[in-house]
Amino acid sequence: MNYQDFYQASIQDPVSFWDQQAQLISWHKPYTQVLDHSKPPFAKWFVGGETNLCYNAIDRWLETQSDKAALIAISTETNSEKTYSFAELHVEVQRMAAMMLDLGVKKGDRVLIYMPMIAEAAFAMLACARIGAVHSVVFGGFASKSLATRIDDAKPVLVVSADAGMRGGKAVPYKPLLDEAIQLAEHKPAKVLLVNRGLDAMNLVDGRDVDYAALREQHMNAQVPVTWLESNEMSYVLYTSGTTGKPKGVQRDVGGYAVALASSMKNIFCGNAGETYFATSDIGWVVGHSYIVYGPLIAGMATIMYEGTPIRPDAGVWWSIVEKYKVTRMFSAPTAVRVLKKHPVELMKKYDISSLKALYLAGEPLDETTSNWIATELGAPIIDNYWQTETGWPILSVARGVEHKDTRLGSPGIAMYGYNVTIINEATGAVCGPNEKGVVAIKGPLPPGCMQTVYGDDQRFVQTYWTNFAHEQLYSTFDWGIRDADGYFFILGRTDDVINVAGHRLGTREIEESISSHPQISEVAVVGIEDKLKGQAAVAFAIIKNPDRAATRELAKALEAEVMAVVDKQLGAVARPSRVYFVAMLPKTRSGKLLRRSIQAVCEGRDAGDLTTIEDPLSLQQIKNALQA
Ligand code: AMP
Repeated sequence: MNYQDFYQASIQDPVSFWDQQAQLISWHKPYTQVLDHSKPPFAKWFVGGETNLCYNAIDRWLETQSDKAALIAISTETNSEKTYSFAELHVEVQRMAAMMLDLGVKKGDRVLIYMPMIAEAAFAMLACARIGAVHSVVFGGFASKSLATRIDDAKPVLVVSADAGMRGGKAVPYKPLLDEAIQLAEHKPAKVLLVNRGLDAMNLVDGRDVDYAALREQHMNAQVPVTWLESNEMSYVLYTSGTTGKPKGVQRDVGGYAVALASSMKNIFCGNAGETYFATSDIGWVVGHSYIVYGPLIAGMATIMYEGTPIRPDAGVWWSIVEKYKVTRMFSAPTAVRVLKKHPVELMKKYDISSLKALYLAGEPLDETTSNWIATELGAPIIDNYWQTETGWPILSVARGVEHKDTRLGSPGIAMYGYNVTIINEATGAVCGPNEKGVVAIKGPLPPGCMQTVYGDDQRFVQTYWTNFAHEQLYSTFDWGIRDADGYFFILGRTDDVINVAGHRLGTREIEESISSHPQISEVAVVGIEDKLKGQAAVAFAIIKNPDRAATRELAKALEAEVMAVVDKQLGAVARPSRVYFVAMLPKTRSGKLLRRSIQAVCEGRDAGDLTTIEDPLSLQQIKNALQA
């Protein structure tokens, strides 16, 4: 089929279009209305229909392929590998669901999942979906304060966690961080279910903590029927960073999400039942939700859950997995490819990776060098795709399941069906012409699968995403972009204070708040600056209360280490700035607003931009001096 027609149909007549796509999943009860857009910007999809994500991911496949691989859990850290068939996954998820019910979890309750990349994490997500509980997965790299903020917002009745994860051969404790987070949080979860991997000592808190293995023993024969949910009931909340220090809970539905995933697996990822999908992300991110756990299983594919790095035991490890499990579709991030590029290519060449039909990359801009290198070495197409936690599936890419469209270097692609993407001039609100820079925006209704609202805060949803343009209510992606004359988009960075480190989205305000909690820091600005490997790196410029503390190079280094340790402890190493510089003043406008973009420009050796409002131009010189010192 011609993609242009397919796309136009989705925009012109979304009701018929999505009605057709909805046939890709199983419905317990048919919907009575495809779309309710009577209260924009809120969109309700498949109103009145009843379905279940876990049913579509597992039960639906039991009749035709119960013995086929469903979940392949590989840890190159603990040297373990285990394949669960659809039948076995069905059994384990029911056991986990029974344990949750036993621990008092009811439909609609939130369950926070703070886990490493082990099979039990997927069981927990699918068990929540089965019983209609709302999961909120928190990335294992986040530390106690990040976790506490999320606990207080989601108010989980249960937390599922583990003693530790492992990275680069070292155990990374989870339980002590969780204990500290619960102590910090106002909301106290009633129960904590803990998988003991034997990696780190665990002290169980009496009356609260429950050992997973022991409780599982009591539910070996559990049969937990699926709880059917109305399409617009909540499936999960996933926190993401924005402009404020308070993360937003991206809330998703059930039916729309299932349809969007089934449809994208077919049309964008071209995945077929019985094949193997390998996404190297983490369940703590949206890619993990959509394309490690739910998407591939809904498509009847085996999915790989991988604990480890791309280079351990050596940089051939991912390709050995591709060979062994005959992976057909792989999903990763440009940073991972840049890491691999530093290693001998022979390690990749050792393996027969002829099963691989395409490598999908997302999460950050894909530079041409990286793209060309991996395309040549793999001999498979590289498909860039651009999307956000908020959308749940690609906004821009090429839909080769519909038509074999060419990719264009440096561009994540064209607008995906369902997304009425436009570029808006920030100042005038007018639609930009070809190759004119503006903000990437989407005309509502957003297609199925996109966020329903900010959890518990409809007002914030409307205010944050839908009020950025004077003339029209449009969804803002907060990304700069251009569209060329052929409809290919190019993404040029964020319009807000969000930075992207190795494909991980971080809010500079959160990092600033954490650094400010160090008793010596009176003020701080964090910006993301270009980094050859990670895309961007966070860099902090801080004013200290007692300048003597940074009087010598040694003292400054020691204080820098202290500040980094604070971020490590509160937010996690993922948010740690790569450098902390001490300055006497920060560039601000006369009204006191930090000039982050100017700081960033100076750091990257660019022009500082319009400085008519700067309070003291000397402050920028200080930034330059600090960088050169
Ligand atoms: P997240 O919500 O963590 O997935 O981060 C979404 C943000 O990552 C987007 O708003 C973009 O700034 C960036 N991003 C994601 N995918 C791409 C891509 N393919 N090319 C350029 N930037 C991307």
